[in-house]
Amino acid sequence: MDVSFRDKWLEMCGIIGYNGDKDIFDILRKGLKRLEYRGYDSSGISLQKNSELVIKKSVGQVNELFKKISETELGGSKSGIAHTRWATHGKVTEINSHPHTSCQKRLAVVHNGIIENHEEIRSQLENNHLIRSETDTEIIAHYLEEKLEKGNTVIESLQEFHTEAEGTYAVLVQKKGREKIFALKNKSPLVIGYADHGNFISSDIYAFSNHTEKSIFLKDGDTAEVTENTYKVYNKDRKEATRSIKNIKWSQTENKRNFGHYMIKEVYEIPKTVEKLVKSVKNHQSSEFQKFAEKIRQKEKVVITGCGSSFHAAKIGEKILRRKGFNVRALNAVETDETDFSEETLTVAVSQSGETMDVLDTVEQAINKGSEIFSIVNVPYSTVQRKSSTTINLLAGQEICVASTKTFVNQVLVFKMLSKILDGEKTDESNLASGLRKVIEEDAMVERVSEKLVDEEKIYVLGSSVEYPLAKELALKLKEITYTHSEGLRAGEMKHGTLALVEKGTKIIGLSKKLSQIENSLEEAKSRGAEIFPITMEELGLEGLEEFTELFIATLGFVLTYKIAKKRGLPIDKPRNLAKSVTVR
Ligand code: GLU
Repeated sequence: MDVSFRDKWLEMCGIIGYNGDKDIFDILRKGLKRLEYRGYDSSGISLQKNSELVIKKSVGQVNELFKKISETELGGSKSGIAHTRWATHGKVTEINSHPHTSCQKRLAVVHNGIIENHEEIRSQLENNHLIRSETDTEIIAHYLEEKLEKGNTVIESLQEFHTEAEGTYAVLVQKKGREKIFALKNKSPLVIGYADHGNFISSDIYAFSNHTEKSIFLKDGDTAEVTENTYKVYNKDRKEATRSIKNIKWSQTENKRNFGHYMIKEVYEIPKTVEKLVKSVKNHQSSEFQKFAEKIRQKEKVVITGCGSSFHAAKIGEKILRRKGFNVRALNAVETDETDFSEETLTVAVSQSGETMDVLDTVEQAINKGSEIFSIVNVPYSTVQRKSSTTINLLAGQEICVASTKTFVNQVLVFKMLSKILDGEKTDESNLASGLRKVIEEDAMVERVSEKLVDEEKIYVLGSSVEYPLAKELALKLKEITYTHSEGLRAGEMKHGTLALVEKGTKIIGLSKKLSQIENSLEEAKSRGAEIFPITMEELGLEGLEEFTELFIATLGFVLTYKIAKKRGLPIDKPRNLAKSVTVR
């Protein structure tokens, strides 16, 4: 596959390994289920059993894999690795699913990421190898096998591989007959979980956070070996290294409770997560907010960066802070280069997962130019956070639905709170949560609008001023969740071109604090046959709470999108082709 094309692919999967006493079938099944939100076209496991590697794979969701395996088949094993794949190289087939094995099946490998130069590595192998799949991953198993045959250990072979491989990779390896998991990390996350009953290693703390809070984050170039009771880490210079144990609380429930989908469950959680963040500004995150405010005052320029919904939150942040007179620019992380940064720039990275590759690239550019990094993230101890000197945690809890909802609202709220701190204003958010509850629960208007939009193939969303990024955000949600072609425009922009697409019955949503701010644009479209749907604070019956308009309108947009997608019977939590965090370029 052509590299430039391939690099545009999204990639995200999850890996988990466990050595220990607990029922391995249950641990790996639940671990994979907890990782499934990251990517999900196929899955597989490898278990050490009676000195053999037992490997099972399946296309589709994790349940499909476990339907194929009986508990007795796997029982008694104490060491296993597992994978949910989000294909980057090779079709979604059982053969291409991980784990991949070496010719003699002495090694099993799971991999998250891309080996850019897999073809080159393949051409340099000395022996003839039986390559079974179309993936970039399989070459790792054959490469390691050759090195083992020359007398290297698995760790040495992985270290050799690291010197030759280009790309991003978190790799777990099992060797036949050894109750040990070997690992290598480069630019994809990998973390060891240290529990009473055994040790985990995974791309995501969430895979094991129901068993232990003790987490050991690996660095790029690290190799590691994990057994039931021990773990050893070697740094990129191949020396044994100490990596501290962090205690991480991240065991949210992944239960949908009575909600049909995670998306709507997470929307219903918005009022609570908002309250939690507001409280933290006055308590345990007060010093972080103060540091942010001080730095914004000090620096010549502030660059806020993010991708997708996080970029839209960054745009809202830009508008809020520019109004206060600060030199702030929001840049989409896919577009930045080093010229955007200097020692005088404060870079603020906004991300749900803290692992988005494009954001990490931007952070690297900023670091190279001497810029200080602050971040606003939801997943604690994520890579973005670890690269920042100060972080505000979004405290939105686990978000399973691919589309961001409660995280987005808290991202915007962070900027609103910062703006108040910069003004030295006393904050009063006492009616915020109840206003949000009203938007979510009193949904007759949204229901009506969703009925009107359910059969539409294209929808335009207009926004004035701060509501412009919200229009982009709603359009993005309509694309991701309802598969409707939609475009978010600044009110006033339509007449410069897009109006040519307006005909009788074209549906246009207008977002604004007050109808008067958007009325002209909507009327222009209406007089050309468009059907218009203004969403304003008056419409919502929330006059008096205008200060938080963005949060109310964003939330309403989520409910609307959800309703349309539900009526269409779409896979709301896991839209086709998308993954929760996007960890390649
Ligand atoms: N590049 C590998 C593949 O396509 C791994 C993808 C992933 O991270 O799931 O199989």
